[in-house]
Amino acid sequence: MAKTDQELQQFMERVRQRNPGEEEFQQAVHEVAATIIPYIDQHPGYKEVNVLERLTEPDRIIIFRVAWEDDKGTVHVNRGYRVQHSNAIGPYKGGIRFHPSVTLSVLKFLAFEQTFKNSLTGLPMGGGKGGSDFDPKGKSDREVMHFCQSFMTELYRYIGHFTDVPAGDIGVGAREISYLFGQYKRISNLFTGVLTGKGLAFGGSLIRTEATGYGAAYFMQDMLRHVGEDIDGKTAIVSGSGNVAQYTIEKVSQLGGKVLTASDSSGFVYDKDGIHGDRLEFLKELKNVKRGRIKAYADEFGVEFYAGKRPWGVPAELAFPAATQNEITAEDAKTLIKNGCRAVSEGANMPTEQDGIDLFLDAKIMFAPSKAANAGGVAVSGLEMTQNSMRLSWSRDELDQRLRKIMADIHEKCVHYGSEGAWCNYLKGANIGGFIKVADAIKSYGVM
Ligand code: NDP
Repeated sequence: MAKTDQELQQFMERVRQRNPGEEEFQQAVHEVAATIIPYIDQHPGYKEVNVLERLTEPDRIIIFRVAWEDDKGTVHVNRGYRVQHSNAIGPYKGGIRFHPSVTLSVLKFLAFEQTFKNSLTGLPMGGGKGGSDFDPKGKSDREVMHFCQSFMTELYRYIGHFTDVPAGDIGVGAREISYLFGQYKRISNLFTGVLTGKGLAFGGSLIRTEATGYGAAYFMQDMLRHVGEDIDGKTAIVSGSGNVAQYTIEKVSQLGGKVLTASDSSGFVYDKDGIHGDRLEFLKELKNVKRGRIKAYADEFGVEFYAGKRPWGVPAELAFPAATQNEITAEDAKTLIKNGCRAVSEGANMPTEQDGIDLFLDAKIMFAPSKAANAGGVAVSGLEMTQNSMRLSWSRDELDQRLRKIMADIHEKCVHYGSEGAWCNYLKGANIGGFIKVADAIKSYGVM
């Protein structure tokens, strides 16, 4: 066994012992460690002070009870979390997820990833993530409001515009951020940029809603341009139909691509004419206003709906997983490669299982890992923080240009650290590119 493989095995053994049963967290650490351990072997300054292992332990984790009353007066209890992973290069920053699948392991993986992603943006933001196993689906606005108020009544003690600045994620969109911000403001008596993704009337930023999806499309455009191609004229498949999926579809269409699919947890729709224009507006209304199921799109436009299935069997040149973690298995990766997929841009966090990633890399697919491809959302959140501090608002065009430039810079960093001859290993490039700044800061602070 090669020396670095042995080091990786020993390293992961220690991570598993300290975090038993936390599979998602172990998976995320493995994905990073597999590329960072060979790098730090060549840069012993990081190894001497054990930076990587220190980065696998969050600064702190806060866990709390969230009791709330439904419309019938029944009292429910959920669990709330905030994982403050690293503030080495800025205040903790990362979303809040409300979904029944939320566990400590899921949030630790997301907070760990967020630290590297935020570093890649070049902005001064540390990494964190939070959430609850609360399911907003099927709840009335009033119930969601009660839950958010109860959640914030505990969380407010631990956050602040210089401390920790949460945002949205799965199940936490404009409605939830508004309830959360309203409660923070009320109990702290402070109007500060403590959350991002806010409404435009109270300190929100233009382009934030679109940023993650647009960013994933921009990153795809940069990967294709790097090999002398473009999105224009190519077919694409997208999973999910929430915030990230909607704006990935919008930007890919604007750039001349044809998006064939969208999905939710009940199945996917296949629209051979492409999801764009009025059809995309219908999808947005269905998901953001009516909070309906994706089958309604198939019923409206007479296209096919595949119940309980994911879209990876539909032949296309580009793939954008934009729903949730581990949605592309090794089998799915094989199918995508067999069907001629050339490039994958991960809008969701860690949507591809490790075996699937290995297959993509072996097949020399252009594979953009989430920490690079979906960094556009947090980048514009960082710009929202700047605007709040400066008490000004930038125009839509200015913000879109800044987003475009940040995605291009991340692409450059990945190419710099990930090029292997003519081909770029974007996973390696993103991991090393994200690691260096955080690791240098940690080294400078001494042992803590
Ligand atoms: P939304 O809640 O807006 O949408 C999530 C979508 O994914 C929905 O279509 C949902 O379907 C589907 N989905 C969620 N869980 C599952 C599951 N277990 N199985 C199948 N489908 C599922 O979330 P976002 O669009 O904000 O987030 C999507 C992904 O992007 C997440 O991985 C998130 O962490 C990541 N991300 C989001 C950012 C943002 O700015 N919002 C920033 C960076 C990353 P259904 O409605 O049926 O549950």
